[in-house]
Amino acid sequence: MEEKDKLKLKLFKHIIYNLGIFISIFIVFGLFLFFMIRNNIYSGVDKELYESKNLILDSNNLKINFFINSGMLGNNENFVIFQDSINENSDYSITRKIINPNIIVIIRDINGNILSENLGRLEDYIDELTFNEKNMDKIYETSIENKYYYRAINFLVLGNSQEYNKYVQLLINVDSERNLVNGYFQIIVSAIILVCVLSIFASYLVSERTLKPLSDNLIKQMEFVQNVSHELRTPLTIIQAKQELLLQEPNAKIIDKSEEISLTLNETKRLSKLVKDLLFLSRADNNKINLQKENINIDEYIKEIVNPYVEIAQMQEKEINLNLNYKMDIDVDTNKIYQLMIILLDNAIKYTEKGDKIEIITYSKDNKCVIEVKDTGIGISDEGLTRVFERFYREDKARSRETGGTGLGLSIANLIVSEHAGTIKATHNKPNGSIFTIRLPK
Ligand code: ADP
Repeated sequence: MEEKDKLKLKLFKHIIYNLGIFISIFIVFGLFLFFMIRNNIYSGVDKELYESKNLILDSNNLKINFFINSGMLGNNENFVIFQDSINENSDYSITRKIINPNIIVIIRDINGNILSENLGRLEDYIDELTFNEKNMDKIYETSIENKYYYRAINFLVLGNSQEYNKYVQLLINVDSERNLVNGYFQIIVSAIILVCVLSIFASYLVSERTLKPLSDNLIKQMEFVQNVSHELRTPLTIIQAKQELLLQEPNAKIIDKSEEISLTLNETKRLSKLVKDLLFLSRADNNKINLQKENINIDEYIKEIVNPYVEIAQMQEKEINLNLNYKMDIDVDTNKIYQLMIILLDNAIKYTEKGDKIEIITYSKDNKCVIEVKDTGIGISDEGLTRVFERFYREDKARSRETGGTGLGLSIANLIVSEHAGTIKATHNKPNGSIFTIRLPK
């Protein structure tokens, strides 16, 4: 698998991992919220059941020899009667306790058979209501035809003898509470689904934001290592081949073999330039470039740098002109600016033909010192304009090799300019050639 695919797979795994964490958190949070809301909604109903249970038990405890019955009054009032079991007809022995009208009270004998009368329509369905003698004093849920839902509690009420012991079943309809809980459940489920979908995007974005720069860097680094080894291998192969050829003729004169010798020498020079450039870049990558700034007149300094090149250009029938109008002093690292100007001048000479012109211009604009190196040479392609500052990028590898280029010059120029908090840009020179524009802050 290619490195890029491996990185994509890693990115994908990272997204799934992030997503898993996001979704688990939201599901746990959603469930927690749901159970909190559900408990809250039912807590009022459950409290009613417990209070009614306590009321009945307390009333019964006061008159231990009483037995219990329940019923509904004409005006829909719910009541529980405690009646003297010995003197059933005496009026004063009847205690009537009114309880919450929403609560249905069912009195059952010790075998679970229903004793209550007047249960109205409920009587037809009463058998569906769960009653378990073993499940006492705990709130549970029961339903009729899976349509009407009740919270219920069962408890034992002691009579004055075992035959008067009764079970009381309290029921309260919770259809509206159930609807409310279901409504909340739907809202929470929809919210979780929405959040999950958003999480997919969020985790993709987060993963891309964190991993993309890393993977880009890794790819760049891999390409860089590949380029370096290629750049080192080519001159080494040439040197080795030429040296082997020389060794085959140990008695030959140097003068006869001067071509081979000068070729090996050129390749050695290339190698040493390459190593020097690579060292510079690696020091820059590790933030080890310390600028030693001096206040200088940049026009004067540029003139000094360019002068020797005027002659070289003339020898190649090219022309160098200076148009220096900055006329002010500026704080720069002179060694680095020298290196920068040499790179640009070298390129201008390398990539121009006989009769071409090179112009170096300085001026002040927007509080910046602008330096332009203009040529009427072969020019750069549209793609090249943005890529020439990349390490080892060359428009024409063969030409660059011929002229001793390493493909690192402009990336070093770019570094030097950014170390000075400036910018460098390549543009087309009309009708032919290129312009390199540097802007340095004052
Ligand atoms: P090189 O050592 O190859 O010159 P550089 O980093 O200095 O490396 O330049 C990168 C590439 O940019 C060159 O190979 C060349 O294709 C292009 N280039 C740079 N300067 C010029 C210029 N003045 N005119 C045309 N092309 C240029």
